[in-house]
Amino acid sequence: MSYIRYKNNNLFVENVSVRRLVSKFSSPFYLYSEGNIIENYKSFSNNFKKSNPLICFSVKANSNIQILKILKKMGSGADVVSGGELLKAIKSGIKPNKIVFSGVGKTEDEIKLAIRKKILLINVESENEAILINKIAGKLKKKTAIGIRLNPDINAPTHKKISTGKAEDKFGLSKTNLISFCLNVKKLKNLKLNAISVHIGSQILSENPFKKTLKVLEEIIKRTAINFKFVDLGGGFGISYKKKDKKINLKNYSILVEKFRKKYNCNIIFEPGRAIVGDTAILVTKVQYLKKGSNKTFAILNAGMNDFMRTALYDAVHNIIPVIKNSKKNKGPLEFVGPICETTCKFVKYKKYQSLNQTDYVAIADVGAYGASLSSNYNTKPLIAEIIINKAKARIIRKKQDIKSLINQ
Ligand SMILES: *Cc1c(COP(=O)(O)O)cnc(C)c1O
Repeated sequence: MSYIRYKNNNLFVENVSVRRLVSKFSSPFYLYSEGNIIENYKSFSNNFKKSNPLICFSVKANSNIQILKILKKMGSGADVVSGGELLKAIKSGIKPNKIVFSGVGKTEDEIKLAIRKKILLINVESENEAILINKIAGKLKKKTAIGIRLNPDINAPTHKKISTGKAEDKFGLSKTNLISFCLNVKKLKNLKLNAISVHIGSQILSENPFKKTLKVLEEIIKRTAINFKFVDLGGGFGISYKKKDKKINLKNYSILVEKFRKKYNCNIIFEPGRAIVGDTAILVTKVQYLKKGSNKTFAILNAGMNDFMRTALYDAVHNIIPVIKNSKKNKGPLEFVGPICETTCKFVKYKKYQSLNQTDYVAIADVGAYGASLSSNYNTKPLIAEIIINKAKARIIRKKQDIKSLINQ
């Protein structure tokens, strides 16, 4: 079912017309479908049902606490990458024994917090990090469960700025280093090596890199002869931003995962972010000005790279769709740009677009993941509102930031 769609040329999120909302709330704002989030979670979980994995939602994809609460209710755990995300996940009601903590640069304070909260796993990304955790765990007199993150040196075809599993990327330990770490980990008396973890990148649309990763994991398990309690297979499952993006076949992969789980008698963890929330939101924004360029028209929006950064950061292409469709065509190419004083504050260019006027509303599509969570106050702009729809009800889940809170420092 599609939760964000047109009815009689009017854009709807669930049962609410976006046009009606823009008369109530000042734009720009993020607009989510709660039904869509729930359905994505269920569909991911059903796909891997046989393996009964722990699903740890990747909080950095969307850290709104109301969204975390929705996922918590569905049974989700959390994958966090900072002390702030850890506290937020706990505040949302997610139990520490469903939380894993990843990241290459955890600080002493963050490690202390994770140990005190007794989370499921601290996923360690270097030998020196393990040594520090061991020391802190000793001081706190708490034996601490860790996972060790593998960098399998696999080239997952995705944007180079979101690859994490190649030898040149900063994440995890190489196969050789990881094996020698495992063989020496007993010396770190305050640690329990409970897991091996891996996360090879994001927006991956083919199951092949995941299959290759399973092979590397098998090799390591055989060579170390360690019976890992948990195998954390990370996230990275892609969604279709463009029509031509082929969908990843999770069914095939789930069969391999189940075989793997049985063979090595372990518990599986997944850390999906984008696949759960990516297609569940739009960013509603107004055409502030139309401006003729020498060979195209600029539609200058009231939302910019501070509100939605994926295009500036990773050249991500997001469709921009009209809030009210018409059948008239604009002459010549049209480029959607934002107001921020940076050349990269632009979104997408169309050869042809429907006829557009100043003060019309449009929506940037598929912004539920790495949208609001990546937004900033650049150019001293307040963070925008986030609104969620459940059937016919609209609920504000983050108020637009008060400009007063920005201007005193
Ligand atoms: C970002 C991240 C994820 C989530 O990635 P998605 O592509 O959003 O599924 C999972 N695990 C780790 C360690 C991450 O850094």
